[in-house]
Amino acid sequence: MSAFRFDICRLPPEAEALRQKVWAFFEEELSHMTPLQRADSWDGFDRDFSRKMAAKGWIGLTWPERYGGHERTALERYVVLEEALVAGAPVSAHWIAERQSGPLLLNFGSEEQCHKILPGIAKGELVFCIGMSEPDSGSDLASLRSPAKRSDDGWLLNGAKVWTTNAHEADYMIGLFRTSTDPDNRRGGLSQFLIDMKTPGITVNPIVDLPGREHFNEVVFEDVHLSHDCLIGTEGEGWDQVTAELAYERSGPERYLSSIQILLALVDELKANPSERGTIAVGELMARLATLRAMSLSLASMLEKGQNPSLEATVVKDLGTGFEQTLPDIAQSLIDLEPDPDSGSDMQMVLSFLIQAVPSFSLRGGTREILRGIIARGLGLR
Ligand SMILES: Cc1cc2nc3c(=O)[nH]c(=O)nc-3n(C[C@H](O)[C@H](O)[C@H](O)COP(=O)(O)OP(=O)(O)OC[C@H]3O[C@@H](n4cnc5c(N)ncnc54)[C@H](O)[C@@H]3O)c2cc1C
Repeated sequence: MSAFRFDICRLPPEAEALRQKVWAFFEEELSHMTPLQRADSWDGFDRDFSRKMAAKGWIGLTWPERYGGHERTALERYVVLEEALVAGAPVSAHWIAERQSGPLLLNFGSEEQCHKILPGIAKGELVFCIGMSEPDSGSDLASLRSPAKRSDDGWLLNGAKVWTTNAHEADYMIGLFRTSTDPDNRRGGLSQFLIDMKTPGITVNPIVDLPGREHFNEVVFEDVHLSHDCLIGTEGEGWDQVTAELAYERSGPERYLSSIQILLALVDELKANPSERGTIAVGELMARLATLRAMSLSLASMLEKGQNPSLEATVVKDLGTGFEQTLPDIAQSLIDLEPDPDSGSDMQMVLSFLIQAVPSFSLRGGTREILRGIIARGLGLR
């Protein structure tokens, strides 16, 4: 018996037809971007660009029309994502909301929450952040302590979140808080909240990452008051809700295409200066890329059928981040260039940026060790 299913999925003609339109749009809209800006990939933040993508109907592609969506397939959505990543489009302003927060609200939110929020995301107007990790709770998320206590007219939130991507730009956070404590069931008593980031009592402190960017933050909550209707789903069911959300976070093409710009630059470089060693290396990389794409696409087709591929998604994320982390080293071993952020050479600047950025790829969305623990459990080994 195999714990994992990766059925072959072929993209239907309508998805390939959409690819042509998406590609042409990115060609025109992104012609000014440098390779270094493109390498920032899904961390590139540009609200205007997100609004333009929304105007094309490419945000909330699979959502119901009554919430501003377009009722297209998960496979068409997949094509938009992979074209965006290969083009290095600055998608960060809508990425989290489109990938995770919107689908979470569709699954667990109230009708009122969906009507209030989803059309704004689909228009590219609402930026979301995810508040799960805390200063003392990362991998062991069930240990989180930030409390949400019932008050007369709602909830009172305290505590702190950390590594919160885009909190400094976000209109809303979906935050996981502790609403009760049961020593025999650490995963119980967690609940999710829809938090307007303008609510008094919220302070956002920037954290600088290794390449020097400020894209994630510490978020401190001091007596933050929320009304009753900010609870998402069922009180105490936050763990199951979050687990369902992680399948969206771990299965997509962003889990193997984050350093694609260095592969594209390497191929260009080797075209100008071909070598047998380079040809063999690129062939191997392309074979890995094609395999990862087939696996990830298979999960998109499972999502399309309403299945939950969370176990398979851990495999894609673990193998995919391994691939994108090795690309800068392989590129450097094939070309005679040192990484240098000030060199003025596109290849050296992209190399320098990615060498500093890739270590985080196997941390965000769940660390390698945690994913492998989940895979081992899926195989019945623990
Ligand atoms: C770029 C980036 C963006 C992020 N964005 C967000 C965000 O928007 N929202 C959010 O909530 N979080 C975010 N995170 C946080 C991320 O989810 C956590 O960093 C991650 O879950 C690990 O938690 P930690 O940093 O506390 O490390 P720890 O949990 O302390 O882990 C440290 C090390 O110990 C290992 N380890 C821990 N437990 C075990 C175990 N049981 N067995 C074996 N090894 C173990 C880990 O694998 C890791 O190598 C982001 C992180 C990064 C790097």
